[in-house]
Amino acid sequence: MNATAALHALVIDWFDEHARDLPWRRPEAGAWGVMVSEFMLQQTPVARVLPVYEQWLSRWPRPADLAAESPGEAVRAWGRLGYPRRALRLHGAAVAIAERHGGDVPRDHAKLLALPGVGEYTAAAVASFAYGQRHPVLDTNVRRVFARAVTGTQYPPTATTAAERHLARGLLPADEPTAARWAASTMELGALVCTARSPECGRCPIAARCAWRLAGSPAHQGPPRRGQTYVGTDRQVRGKLLAVLREATGPVPQQALDAVWHEPLQRARALDGLVSDGLVEPLPDGRFRLPVG
Ligand code: SF4
Repeated sequence: MNATAALHALVIDWFDEHARDLPWRRPEAGAWGVMVSEFMLQQTPVARVLPVYEQWLSRWPRPADLAAESPGEAVRAWGRLGYPRRALRLHGAAVAIAERHGGDVPRDHAKLLALPGVGEYTAAAVASFAYGQRHPVLDTNVRRVFARAVTGTQYPPTATTAAERHLARGLLPADEPTAARWAASTMELGALVCTARSPECGRCPIAARCAWRLAGSPAHQGPPRRGQTYVGTDRQVRGKLLAVLREATGPVPQQALDAVWHEPLQRARALDGLVSDGLVEPLPDGRFRLPVG
């Protein structure tokens, strides 16, 4: 067995024993369940996604069910998951699936990529996790595992580089089922063991081969890593404004929105941003609502 095949076997065997039982990994989730989970999991931890995912799938078990609703209902059901433009994109993808693909999430990577709101990562993840195909699936967890285990650096670059894509393609197992397992298992290793702040090398299946560890775990050399600040940001104000609209049963007056944030300029900027992103609709009478069409 060569070194790459040995790496595959170690990580996949670890995954078989330690993978979390998550609803989108069960066969009954289907491709739609996988797609919904991938939209929700971008930048959001599993624990926060789980309840929203369950409600979403029980309300909209097929893409056509979601497509039949207004985009505003998707934004409302998104709740406090954050980055609510994802709700609009998922709704747009559901409409396209219903209109162009007979209501079934397409299998073909290029067709997935052509759906609105579906980027390179999501297309690869759905093709791989739902349909067992062979694609490099590069999320932050996988990129961190590859950076450490193979490249020997503590963190990957800020944005995905051509070199990382090249490395990921080179590491892909040749056969489809193993490639799909490899994608899921490297992601899980990054989520559970090789975490950003405190990797647990003592329980890592590839510790004996990890380039970063073998080099003595050298400290990060690149630019300072961004912290996840939220309090006081426009994102926080947008979240508060959107919460008022989600909880309302109909359009709300400007005063109801003004009450959630003290600083008028920042509040106006946040509201303008929501309107230009299509998350909020201004009405001619000065009130606001979630988008209806
Ligand atoms: S040995 Fe440590 S740093 Fe290397 S891949 Fe495993 S958990 Fe990550």
